[in-house]
Amino acid sequence: MNAELFGLRGRVAIVTGGNGGIGLGIARGLAAAGADIAVVGRNESKSNAAVDELRQHGITAIAVTTDVTDQPAISAMIDRVSGEFGRIDILVNNAGINIRKPPHALELEEWDSVIDTNLTSAFLCSKAAYPAMKAQAAGKIINIGSMMSIFGASFAPAYAASKGGIVQFTRSCACAWAADNIQVNAILPGWIDTDLTRQAREQVGGLHDRVLARTPAARWGEIDDFAGIAVFLASRASDFVTGTAIPVDGGYSIMG
Ligand code: NDP
Repeated sequence: MNAELFGLRGRVAIVTGGNGGIGLGIARGLAAAGADIAVVGRNESKSNAAVDELRQHGITAIAVTTDVTDQPAISAMIDRVSGEFGRIDILVNNAGINIRKPPHALELEEWDSVIDTNLTSAFLCSKAAYPAMKAQAAGKIINIGSMMSIFGASFAPAYAASKGGIVQFTRSCACAWAADNIQVNAILPGWIDTDLTRQAREQVGGLHDRVLARTPAARWGEIDDFAGIAVFLASRASDFVTGTAIPVDGGYSIMG
């Protein structure tokens, strides 16, 4: 197999929420394939710890403390990455939150905060990264959806709306930017063991057992399960793949 097909040396990747959970799993995969990484998150010490770990792959990594709901902060983040690395090849829109309440109990501020963090941030970061990718005549954008891009959930109306929206946003960007040689795809994680779902296991009774029973692989996903798909979608190997939404779910979404 041609290693260069999947090689990322010399490429620059921005990973929002890259300081923990699935984002860190993705950043590890990209770094192992040779990409330089900008870790974007709000928690500076978590981001610094991630950067220290990623540098062990012999790549350059920086932490850019940014709230992805803040448009001026996103512009500053993109300017810093372009300034320090001279290019942007890969953008992973991964930062996300959930507020677990049924629709009738969800306040407008809570709805807005989930939509802003999970969906509007992907729009703002993609729009801000586009000029650099267009100028290079190449780019890869990877958006993180969810099983709730496909299924409903009584306890997560804003989250499900944001994750359904991510898939349609992915398809729209894929159509808009294909002529610029920018591929835009989504990954739909199943149930993965992270801070986000540890919180869910505490808040949603019986969740742990239901996930195990429903997942054909009969386990929770791990963050390193995302390395391979991220490298594929970030590398030359996926140059004719765009607008897709790929489940990484141990079979959860095909279980009858
Ligand atoms: P974690 O809670 O472990 O990580 C969330 C990440 O998002 C953190 O790195 C956090 O960094 C960052 N983040 C949150 N809000 C902001 C913000 N306003 N600005 C910048 N960064 C932000 O969650 P997961 O790893 O589980 O989730 C990652 C993505 O995967 C999310 O989009 C989630 O919806 C999705 N997903 C997760 C699943 C799972 O089972 N775990 C299943 C399906 C989808 P910081 O705190 O430093 O800001």
